[in-house]
Amino acid sequence: MRLTFLGAGTSTGVPSIGCSCETCRSDDPRDKRLRVSILLEHDDKKILVDTSIDFRQQALRAKIDYLDAVLITHCHVDHVFGLDDIRPLNFRHGAMPIFANEIAWTDLRRIFRYIFNPTHFGGGLPQLVPHIVTPNAPFMISENLTVTPVEVIHGKLPVIAYRFNDFAYATDLNFISEESIDALQGLDVLVLDCVRIKPHSTHLGLSEALDYIKRINPKRAFLTHLNHDIMHQRDSNLLPENVLFAHDQLVIEPT
Ligand SMILES: [Zn+2]
Ligand SMILES: [Zn+2]
Repeated sequence: MRLTFLGAGTSTGVPSIGCSCETCRSDDPRDKRLRVSILLEHDDKKILVDTSIDFRQQALRAKIDYLDAVLITHCHVDHVFGLDDIRPLNFRHGAMPIFANEIAWTDLRRIFRYIFNPTHFGGGLPQLVPHIVTPNAPFMISENLTVTPVEVIHGKLPVIAYRFNDFAYATDLNFISEESIDALQGLDVLVLDCVRIKPHSTHLGLSEALDYIKRINPKRAFLTHLNHDIMHQRDSNLLPENVLFAHDQLVIEPT
């Protein structure tokens, strides 16, 4: 399995517009963060999690020329506003399966009304085959790749974390239930939300993230959705040995 971090940044991206803090002025490429998204490749399958607002740039940078499926964690701007940019892949390969939970589908159909209730003919709309995911109801992308949706809470919003065999991606959350912690046991790699050092009302701060990592106990963990309070080199010494900050264009073999 091969995991590419297409973006590891919070909703504003880093640098943040108009900001002159130390991180936003940093020359370290690991401090340049597009909005969160990952590409997962396993055997011949390629899966995108979230069509971030930076999807076009991320797809060009990672040379994405094909996708088997798009999985959506939740319908917030930073995670879905690149949806229209899957059209070039549709032009070449046809309609694409897209997975999201019911609450995200309600918002996707409202926000992208022009896609789901087209009012005019032509114009090159995204071609999507919608699928609804249900927490703890696994589905197969291929014989060797089982995807288990795991519900986590982002403020008040139920968000879907996705487990792929023994790798899991859990972003945009500030609470994980006991049941979901159980569903995340036995991981080789966990990618987890950590928006900043201090606590936050809808995301994990660093100490909350490290507490969940202790309870979930993956072999390795990567923190993502990072804002400009976190400077990669300066703050890496705050992390235990098996935990790292993610960064854009980082490629790992999670399992
Ligand atoms: Zn987000
Ligand atoms: Zn800044």
